[in-house]
Amino acid sequence: MSTEELSVPIVCDECETETRVPLDDLADALERHNAEKHGGESVAEVNPAIKDRLADLVAEDLGLFDEDAAERP
Ligand SMILES: [Zn+2]
Repeated sequence: MSTEELSVPIVCDECETETRVPLDDLADALERHNAEKHGGESVAEVNPAIKDRLADLVAEDLGLFDEDAAERP
């Protein structure tokens, strides 16, 4: 609790929630939330304000942002 880990805010428009998760759990947390709450649709996502900066760091590794382009309705 005393150490500020690198945590990432996940926002969900439908649930109107924002949750901070450790970077290590990011992909799992997103997937789990979307699977449990939204039937697997990509509703929850990394806070857009953070996304750009995060993208520079890790997004490509996680493969999170490839889905955005592919899954537009
Ligand atoms: Zn949600």
